[in-house]
Amino acid sequence: MTQRKSYSGSCLCHKVQFKISEPFHYCATCHCSICRRQTGGDMTSWLGVSKKRFDITKGIESIKHFTSSPGTDRAFCKECGSSLFWLSKDHQNTISVTLNSIHDNDDISPEKALFIEDKAHWS
Ligand SMILES: [Zn+2]
Ligand SMILES: [Zn+2]
Repeated sequence: MTQRKSYSGSCLCHKVQFKISEPFHYCATCHCSICRRQTGGDMTSWLGVSKKRFDITKGIESIKHFTSSPGTDRAFCKECGSSLFWLSKDHQNTISVTLNSIHDNDDISPEKALFIEDKAHWS
């Protein structure tokens, strides 16, 4: 059997900590205006994984949720504001986690870019 690698992650203030493990569903950068506004970056890299492969190990009470569009819920740390993950009613089995919140992620890279047409004009 193939060894499935797991990673730990956290928000900037480390109040929220989690574990995430392979196999991943997708890894993509998103240039949409909602991700850009939420994270403050020109794009956001997301790692999608089955909900059962993502566990909050610490600080669940520090997570705040925001409904950014009907059926889509974005979660962030209410202490430091770090974007953590989003969930959609349309993809019930997948949770998309910010790649930047995952520690030691050198061996994970986005394989596609989403909403390039919505890219910031300067990027
Ligand atoms: Zn935090
Ligand atoms: Zn987006």
